[in-house]
Amino acid sequence: MLEFYYSTMQGGKSTALLQRRHNLLSIGKNVMVMTCSFDDRYGIGKVTSRIGPQCDAALYTAETVFELNDTFAEADELFIDEAQFLSPAQVHQIHKNLSTKEGMRVSCFGLRSDFQGNSFPGAATLLTLADELHEISTLCRCGAKATMNQRIASDGAPIRNGDVIEIGGDSRYRPVCSKCFY
Ligand SMILES: [Zn+2]
Repeated sequence: MLEFYYSTMQGGKSTALLQRRHNLLSIGKNVMVMTCSFDDRYGIGKVTSRIGPQCDAALYTAETVFELNDTFAEADELFIDEAQFLSPAQVHQIHKNLSTKEGMRVSCFGLRSDFQGNSFPGAATLLTLADELHEISTLCRCGAKATMNQRIASDGAPIRNGDVIEIGGDSRYRPVCSKCFY
């Protein structure tokens, strides 16, 4: 079973991951957590939520091979944070391997679109292949549902150009509705 939990920046996906992990551990399940190697917001190899709790995480890179029968043999469930940075090939690999592993679940948590309103290739593939999709929604400042990520300058003005991947500060982004985005 492949699941994709998607949200905007500051949408609470890491909090959802940590809550679900806590829940599984409390019923005796073995959970493995991974995050992307270049997300160093809180120090390498951690999933941290703004409201406090955190956990250690193994790191994945563009070279990581998701052979679920080997590396992940001990886990009942694998959580992958920042899953928008998986490559489409890695998502296909996970999806294919899961089809032969009865009872194993991989839950991916990530963003759907970048600050220019384009899809992350990994997220697009997850939206295509996941057995279950879960939207974790949050609100735009105007009160409407936020669906987009706006990159902002220190004075709060929207930034439309630049590298897609610019990790290192949630304060550089705000979740917005499409009306406020444009
Ligand atoms: Zn809005």
